[in-house]
Amino acid sequence: MIDAQRTAGGALVLDGNALRDRMVTEVRREVGELSSVPCLATVLIGQDGPSQVYVRNKHRQAQLAGMMSRNETLPHDVSQVDAEDLVRRLASDPAVSGIIVQQPVPIHLDGEKLLALIPVDKDVDGLTTASMGRLMRGVDSLVPCTPLGVLRLLQYYGAQTVGKRAVVVGRSHLVGLPLAVLLARKGIDATVTLAHSRTDDLVAVCRAADILVSATGQARSIGTEHVKPGAWVIDVGISRGESGIVGDVDFAAVQAVAGAITPMPGGTGPMTVACLIQNTLTAWHLQH
Ligand code: NDP
Repeated sequence: MIDAQRTAGGALVLDGNALRDRMVTEVRREVGELSSVPCLATVLIGQDGPSQVYVRNKHRQAQLAGMMSRNETLPHDVSQVDAEDLVRRLASDPAVSGIIVQQPVPIHLDGEKLLALIPVDKDVDGLTTASMGRLMRGVDSLVPCTPLGVLRLLQYYGAQTVGKRAVVVGRSHLVGLPLAVLLARKGIDATVTLAHSRTDDLVAVCRAADILVSATGQARSIGTEHVKPGAWVIDVGISRGESGIVGDVDFAAVQAVAGAITPMPGGTGPMTVACLIQNTLTAWHLQH
């Protein structure tokens, strides 16, 4: 068990770093029992600073999980044909278990076309149309890592979800939309509202939530007025300001009202990487 910490205001801290470490350790144990070593391959195009940090971190966690990892880099001005060639090679390489094309790709490239070349059983980001389709149909699939990480945090720390109201703010394919589907699934059984920039009276919508997830990238836009006392508040948003990384949630204020809350950083970010590592193990099983 992870030692439960509380904020000064009494909210349970949903510690993503600690849960990531547990998950990676468990994956390492399972990897030790496999007939071959899973391999995570990343494709990084160009020199985007945050992407370089994310990719380094993914490789570090893959190695800690006892996996192999391959970092394929391409220059910023690579042609579509050459980028597609690389993804095709990784797709047909039996030694590669999982493939990520790190987003965003440079503007002259067709990122959707690159994504479409990833076989569904190697789609460890869970972002291809085929994986999304499986998610909608409730078929076993590789689920997008950030939504899966949110779900794992809620489950590990014992959030009540059955019959509860969950509000997800943000409807992107990367985070909000798949998370809404996951939370509404049988077995999780939340009653989900998917809010966005055109939602009327967002404060009232959020205030009805037992579980409130914000994934908008609007720094500190979720304050105490959005939070029902005792609600579980999950911050996915990342904004980079002069004072460093800031979430969507005004942590200092909201922690005094919430029943449980993720720190930012140290909440959903590490869980995204943990779920990527878990997905790579799942991908290995799908291929064997
Ligand atoms: P997108 O820009 O694709 O989507 C943002 C969503 O937020 C949209 O649906 C948008 O609504 C909604 N939105 C924007 N402003 C408001 C507002 N004022 N009120 C209500 N809704 C609003 O972003 P992503 O989903 O890709 O990422 C969201 C955030 O999560 C970003 O900060 C990103 O950096 C972070 N992130 C964090 C990860 C982690 O591991 N913690 C992983 C991935 C992303 P509309 O559709 O109407 O435009």
